[in-house]
Amino acid sequence: MQPITVLGAGISGLATAVRLIESGFPVRILTKEPPEQTVSAVAAAIWFPYEAEPVDKANRWSAESYHEFIKLAGLPETGVRMVDFLVLTRPGLDNSWKDELPADAVREARPEELPAGYEMGYMARVPLAETQTYLPYLLERFRKGSGEITVREVTAVEPLLEEGHIVVNCTGLGARQLFGDESVYPIRGQVVKVKKTGPVQSMVDSMDKGRLGYIIERSDCIVLGGTDYGHDYNRQPTEEDTQTILARCRQLERRLGEPVILQALAGLRPKRPAIRCEKEEGRNVVHNYGHGGAGFTVSWGCADEVRAAILRIVRWPA
Ligand SMILES: Cc1cc2nc3c(=O)[nH]c(=O)nc-3n(C[C@H](O)[C@H](O)[C@H](O)COP(=O)(O)OP(=O)(O)OC[C@H]3O[C@@H](n4cnc5c(N)ncnc54)[C@H](O)[C@@H]3O)c2cc1C
Repeated sequence: MQPITVLGAGISGLATAVRLIESGFPVRILTKEPPEQTVSAVAAAIWFPYEAEPVDKANRWSAESYHEFIKLAGLPETGVRMVDFLVLTRPGLDNSWKDELPADAVREARPEELPAGYEMGYMARVPLAETQTYLPYLLERFRKGSGEITVREVTAVEPLLEEGHIVVNCTGLGARQLFGDESVYPIRGQVVKVKKTGPVQSMVDSMDKGRLGYIIERSDCIVLGGTDYGHDYNRQPTEEDTQTILARCRQLERRLGEPVILQALAGLRPKRPAIRCEKEEGRNVVHNYGHGGAGFTVSWGCADEVRAAILRIVRWPA
C-alpha cells in the first residue's frame, strides 16, 4: 500500500495520523516540533467552533468530531471529558454551532446563570480535551499502530512525492512557508493557568473582537483567556496580557477572586479565510490546516475528510 507522510504533530497531524494508521495505511509523521511544543499544546481545547471558516463546513466537522469525542470521554486515559460550558451571546449573532449538538446537550441559560451585564447565553454540554493527557494519548495510539514519528523540519515536499509518498499537510501556520500560502496568518492567543481553589463556571465571551474572555476549569488548574491579536507573531506571553486576562475573567466569574498564577503561555492560532482540507490539484498532497481557534473542535471531522481524499487517490491514482 502507498506510504503516507503526515507533516506536523499538533492536533491536526495526530488525529489524522491516528485515523489513517487505524484504517490500515502505513503512516509516518515528520514534524518540526514534538507535540508538547506545538500551538495545540497551548490550547484551552474545549469544543467550540471559534474563528473557523467557512461556518457551514466548520459546523459539520465540529458535529462529526463531537460524536467521536463522546466515545473518548468514556475512557479516563484520554484526558477527554464532558463539561457544562456557558457561551455568552446576544441576539443577532451567529449561534448555528448549537444546532449541531444533540437536543439535550444545549439549552438557553437561566438569568441567574449569567454574569452581571449579560442578557443571553447557552449552556452546552461539550467535550474538553486536557491537552497534557490527550496529545500523548493520541501519540501513543499512533505508535501502537506501528506509526513512527521523527522530529525534523521539512523544507520541500517534492522529494517525498518522488519517493512515492502521499503527503498530508498538517503544518498549521507552517504552511505559509512550506507551501507559500500567504492567506494563513496568526491570531495570537495567550492563556493564564491559575490554581484551583473552588468551583467556577467554564464559559466564553467571544462576541466582540479585542474583548475575548474565557474560563475553562481543568482537573489540575483553571485556564483563563484570552487574546485575539491578528498578524501578531509573538510566541512569548506578556505581563500586560496576563493582567488584561485576569481583569476580564474576574468580571465574568467573581468566584475567581485573586487567583494564584501558575503559568502564562502564548500560541499562534493558524487562521485562514477558509480551512483548507482537500487534495491539491495535480499532486498527491492532501491539505489539512488553517483551523484558527477550533483545531480540536473540528479535528476528527477533518481527519475523516483527509481519509476520504486518500481513498480516492489510492483507487484512482493521479
Ligand atoms: C490560546 C489558544 C487557545 C485555544 N483554544 C482552543 C479551544 O478551546 N478549542 C479548539 O478547538 N481550539 C483552540 N485553539 C486553537 C487550536 O489550538 C489550533 O486550531 C490548533 O492547535 C491547530 O492545530 P494544528 O495541528 O493544525 O497546528 P499546530 O498545533 O500549530 O501544529 C503544526 C505542526 O506542524 C509542524 N510543522 C510546521 N512546519 C513544519 C515543517 N516545515 N516541517 C515539519 N513540520 C512542520 C509543527 O512543528 C507542528 O508539529 C486555541 C489556540 C490558542 C493559541
